[in-house]
Amino acid sequence: MIRPKPLVAGNWKMNGLRASLNEIIKLNDFLVRSAPKCDVLICPPVTLISSIVQLNLEHVFIGSQDCHTNTNGAHTGDISAEMLRDIGCSHIIIGHSERRVGHGEDNKIVNKKATQAQTVGTTAIICVGETIHEYEAKKTLEVIVSQINSSIPSHATAENTIIAYEPIWAIGSGKVPTVGSVKEVHAVIRKVLVERFGNDGDKINILYGGSVNASNAHTLMSVVNVNGALVGGASLKADDFFNIISVYDQFD
Ligand code: PEP
Repeated sequence: MIRPKPLVAGNWKMNGLRASLNEIIKLNDFLVRSAPKCDVLICPPVTLISSIVQLNLEHVFIGSQDCHTNTNGAHTGDISAEMLRDIGCSHIIIGHSERRVGHGEDNKIVNKKATQAQTVGTTAIICVGETIHEYEAKKTLEVIVSQINSSIPSHATAENTIIAYEPIWAIGSGKVPTVGSVKEVHAVIRKVLVERFGNDGDKINILYGGSVNASNAHTLMSVVNVNGALVGGASLKADDFFNIISVYDQFD
């Protein structure tokens, strides 16, 4: 397969009411006029997904922030990957640190959820990242390799899988790792992906996430093996998010 386009993905987390649909419409209007050189994805709260899908936006993929490990059954309050696909999701974020830490999701659970997402035909955006303690103890690479090996299902391809490297200490903190550090971690992720998945491993997009904004996006997106961004806070407003997306206009 050909290399997928870079992806700039917005994770709205537990933010957004119906009035926020205006931001998505505004974003799509920007994208219609600019023909972006990357794919653009918004992962709103589940409550907004159907309304956004019904807008039939040409330039914005819609995804979810999580799914269950099972296809259906007695799981009150949960939502399966199949249901998300059914309402129009193309991508599902799996194993975000706020799920790993806040909901006790370990690599085994992340692997099962990613399998569900891939099986129903969505792309799993599998998140990995070290805590501040692991970072300070210089265990980042060890932690990331272990998460990559255990969280990614064995049938991963460049079509059904994207990796997001998100140092937990960089999320929502305004702190960003050095370019050297991002380069080193992404190179190691690439190496493990190629070892496990051969040619496909070379094409799987690896996103960087953690306090990405319009000021640092160009620097971060220029790093080798950084194939896009997973953006939290700066994805909530169309103007801010579009300024990050526009960074790709400056690349060949
Ligand atoms: C995130 O939650 O995935 C994230 C990267 O958040 P922020 O951009 O706000 O740091």
